[in-house]
Amino acid sequence: MVTSISIANLLQKDIKFPLFDIDGTLLKGGNKTHADSFNFALHTVYYQPTASIKEIQIHGMIDTQILIEIVKLHGVSEKEAKSKMDDATKAMACYFDEHKETGTFVVLNGVKDILEKLKKNQIPIGLLSGNVEEIGWSKMERAGIKDYFTFGAFGNLAFKRVDLIKIVQKRLEKMTNSEIPLKHFVIIGDTPLDILCAKAGGIEVIAVATGAYSTDELQKAGADLVVTTLYETDKILSFLNIK
Ligand SMILES: [Mg+2]
Repeated sequence: MVTSISIANLLQKDIKFPLFDIDGTLLKGGNKTHADSFNFALHTVYYQPTASIKEIQIHGMIDTQILIEIVKLHGVSEKEAKSKMDDATKAMACYFDEHKETGTFVVLNGVKDILEKLKKNQIPIGLLSGNVEEIGWSKMERAGIKDYFTFGAFGNLAFKRVDLIKIVQKRLEKMTNSEIPLKHFVIIGDTPLDILCAKAGGIEVIAVATGAYSTDELQKAGADLVVTTLYETDKILSFLNIK
């Protein structure tokens, strides 16, 4: 339980709160159902029977952006795409929920180690994910790690990943009835777009090479710390100022 007292204590120690990306950072696999849920929304909400998630390179994009970029390839304007976004993300969440028992969600190397250590230090652990909110939480539940997380911001809440930073900050502030400066948040993600997002939002970022990008590529993209897997708990905890 995160309280205003425990938050004040952590802020005083200059401790930073991690915001984890999901796919490629915490989990691998299970994305066929997610991909199918995009196709379901493209076909039933945007009436684009030939549109498919396979048409674009999606690494690091948030779900609303992915839908917009795909329907634009089929002549749908960005304005129209956005006007149907609520229905589209609801359709995706519904489809995912109906098919959530299919597919496997594998927790990546080191994830449980870092989450356990953060929990032991009573650090509030957040999600900052491009996934539609219900889909993100459902994946966490299927993977058995949902209970570690107390707050998050998700792909259906904005059209740009960077806008999720202020949303997640407000959510934790509201939950703890405290003011939490942005510099106390650190993104942990697996793609150059996670890094760009953190930079654009004025916060630091730890990059992990368990997704589609190598440590070299993540370093070049400007990550403040690069790790091979989340097993490197000492480096991560010290970056977050957790002794
Ligand atoms: Mg990712």
